Order: sequence, then C-alpha cells, then structure tokens
Amino acid sequence: MRTLLLAALLTVTGVAGAGAQTYPTKPITIVVPFAAGGPSDALARILGDRMKTTLGQSFIIENVTGAGGSIGVGRALRAAPDGYTISFGHLGTHVANQAIYPLQYDMLADLDPVVLLPSNPMVVVSRNTLPAKSLQELITWLRANQGKATAGTAGAGSGSHIAGVYLQNLIGLQFQFVPYRGTAPALTDLVAGQIDIIVDQASNSMQQIRTGNIRAYAITDRKRLAAAPEIPTVDEAGLPGFHMTLWNGLWVPKGTPKDVVSKLNAAVVEALADPAVKQRLTDLGLEIPERDQLTPEALGAWHKAEAAKWWPVIKAANVKPE
Ligand code: ASP
Repeated sequence: MRTLLLAALLTVTGVAGAGAQTYPTKPITIVVPFAAGGPSDALARILGDRMKTTLGQSFIIENVTGAGGSIGVGRALRAAPDGYTISFGHLGTHVANQAIYPLQYDMLADLDPVVLLPSNPMVVVSRNTLPAKSLQELITWLRANQGKATAGTAGAGSGSHIAGVYLQNLIGLQFQFVPYRGTAPALTDLVAGQIDIIVDQASNSMQQIRTGNIRAYAITDRKRLAAAPEIPTVDEAGLPGFHMTLWNGLWVPKGTPKDVVSKLNAAVVEALADPAVKQRLTDLGLEIPERDQLTPEALGAWHKAEAAKWWPVIKAANVKPE
C-alpha cells in the first residue's frame, strides 16, 4: 500500500513538475553580466534573497563578465526557456550593446521581458588625491590633463562607459577609458588612486563616498539623492542637462511559459513592496518604479522605446567594442 501510494505520488509530482504549475522545483540562476560586488550584482542579490521567500527556491547569482556585459547576456539568452535562467541587465547591456557589438542575437526578439527594476542616477567621483574640489574644478583639471586622464568603466557599452562618453561630449574633452569587468574592480582601483575618475552608478559608490575614500562631485539627476543630500545635482554644480538614469530589468529566454514569467514577475513585485527591501534599495540611492510600470508588458514597451531612442545616438558616437 505504501509503495503504491509513493508510486502514485511520484507520478503526480513527475507530471506536474514538468509544467509550470509547480514551478519552481529547483534553484533559479540569475546571470549578472558584471563582476561580483558591483551594483548589478548587489541589486540581483537583494532581489534574489527576497524572491526565495515567495517562490521557495534559492537564487544563484552567476557573474558572467566581459565585453560590456554582452557575454553574460548571450549566456542567459541561449539557456532553455524554462524559467530557471534569468538575464539581469540594464540600459547598457540590453540596449547600448546591440549598437556597439556584432551580436549573434537580437535583444528585442530573443528575450521575453519579466519586469523593470529600480533605477539609479550616476555620480561623478574621483580618487581622493585629485586636487579638484568641485565639478568646475574637476573639468578644469580634466582639460589640463586632456587625453591623459583615466576614467574607469565596466567595458564599452556599460552604464559607466555611456555616462563617460556623454560627459566627454558635453565638455568637449577626451578621457582614456580603462575597461574593467564591472565597476566593483574599477572602484577598488579608484580608491587605490590607480585611475582618476568614474561616472559611476550611485549605488556602487555610495559606501566609499560616505567613508570618505573617494570624492563625489555631482549626481546626474534633476534632484539630489535622499541617500546623499550633500552631493549637488549636475544642474547645481554647473553642468546643466547632464542627466542620466540607469534603469535595470529582468528577462528570460524567448518562449518561456507565460505563467512562469507571471510567477517571477509577482515575486519581484512582492520583493519591491517589502519595507526591508525598500529600505535597502533607498539607502543605495535606487528608485523603485511605480506599480503600473512593473508588468512584463511595460518593460517590453519601455525596452523598445529605449532602443529606438539610444541606438541612433550610440551608433553616431561610433563607440568601439572592447
Ligand atoms: N552595472 C555595472 C556593474 O555592475 C557597471 C556599469 O554598467 O557601469 O559593474
């Protein structure tokens, strides 16, 4: 009798386990296309920790780095469309890269959107030993060190790189970009004084700014950050209009069952409504999207619109792959 019951149970779970009803039945991998300890990694880990409570399975963060994030996105995109591999990315990896690298895939056609994630303004930061004390002084210093000044990035097409190119164009200067596998290692080098500046995601630099290990000049937003109200905006600091917000998102390989996408989406929505998660994100200077922006359809529409807006601009800037 017991054997029979067990056999029946196994058959039932076996059949149901193959479908979306019981999803997830094993750990889920989020492919983060940048180095561990960086801003993308941090956001993915905060979410994964909380999504585990909703979905009952743990989340594995896989850092697949290189080529501005395009290697990691490719790895996620080629995985089975079963909801067990998720692609984490942002304006750089999921939009800019397609205008820079000769990719074997199409970001808009080969991925299904899951959810838009919190966004982050950038912050202009420098090594502490650099003499400039304000954004104006920094620009003067950069002008005096034209072509020699080094700017750390997470690779061509990453957020820090697009923001750096944008700054170059605004002030009519050239920097020497130094690509890393993420802004975590770039920040380590900035603290050590090995490179001069980073136009970094605020969430990445925040801790080092607070402890005084690097100097912050301006936030690329219209308003100051609640998490660091002492840093002026670019408009206040003398570079009006240098606005850039790096939005993040989650995608799955094309053809992932709709109800699986719904479960993942609901788990993120629940995570973003959790006061403890909200607090952690706000402390990092991250802004949570409005509820109506948190549907897969909203990310799909946003992704298309951002591609239409940025591809011509990035192609015109003639950014070279790493
Ligand atoms: N988000 C990247 C990282 O986590 C940095 C970037 O895009 O600039 O390292």
